[in-house]
Amino acid sequence: MPAESGLVLATHIHVKWPDKPVILMSGYLSEDAGKYISQGLAVFIHKPVHPSILIAQVKRLLNPSLGHSSILWRKSYDSTVWHHCSNCSTWPTSDYEERNTIAPDNEVCNECEARELANDCR
Ligand SMILES: [Zn+2]
Repeated sequence: MPAESGLVLATHIHVKWPDKPVILMSGYLSEDAGKYISQGLAVFIHKPVHPSILIAQVKRLLNPSLGHSSILWRKSYDSTVWHHCSNCSTWPTSDYEERNTIAPDNEVCNECEARELANDCR
């Protein structure tokens, strides 16, 4: 951004409209941005952004019953594929790790992406 960093803009938004959710999108997570996100003031999406991930995150942020939480990613220890729809046929239910964000080069489940785009991701 030309005049201010996205983080400065996010801070202004948070001061003026404390209830408005903020999504920070970047290819690089600075220490300041990491602190901001860890305080729950914004969620983070790595660039390049998968369209289905952006859609999922916006839907989650706009649905008050889900709160202002990040997408929860799950991956089986014995797999390289990350899932974000709990109704995916291969959603890991044991021996898995969970994260709030994944790296842009991480592999995303095709079924989860298709469910997201079809509005069938839970
Ligand atoms: Zn999946």
